[in-house]
Amino acid sequence: MDFTPLTGSCRCGRVRIGMSQPPVMTAACHCRGCQRMSSSAFSLTAMVPVQGFQVLAGDPVPGGLRGPELDHRFCPDCMSWIFTRIRGWDEMVNVRPVMFEDLRWAEPFLETMAAEKLPWVNLPVRRSYAGFPPEADFPDLLAQFAAERH
Ligand SMILES: [Zn+2]
Ligand SMILES: [Zn+2]
Repeated sequence: MDFTPLTGSCRCGRVRIGMSQPPVMTAACHCRGCQRMSSSAFSLTAMVPVQGFQVLAGDPVPGGLRGPELDHRFCPDCMSWIFTRIRGWDEMVNVRPVMFEDLRWAEPFLETMAAEKLPWVNLPVRRSYAGFPPEADFPDLLAQFAAERH
């Protein structure tokens, strides 16, 4: 799939974001935390190298689970959940791909936390994990994603 830089915005449009390089992975997460934060059955993620992600307008604020590991960012006005940084993994940003106008990168390649999946959810993913993928699987997953999606 050819990549063209993407722009997007939150529900109200005050926060605008850009993705200037393709994601290295796309995923759905079925954990109870994502269900609650997205007010839906699962969350969607595009994993993007930090240099490939830009906040073009607005000032996203912390929200969601304000734990030591996760830095969830929201629009201060409409409260859309826009992206998450994982502390200690500074080279990547997990962006909510449904914010972009071009939704081709929203399709999840893998799913995580399938153990907490709502029973009627059935996603056409390539890989499914009951929990989170073990780190040892990452090189293969990234290579497979790159080969199939780029
Ligand atoms: Zn907003
Ligand atoms: Zn989750």
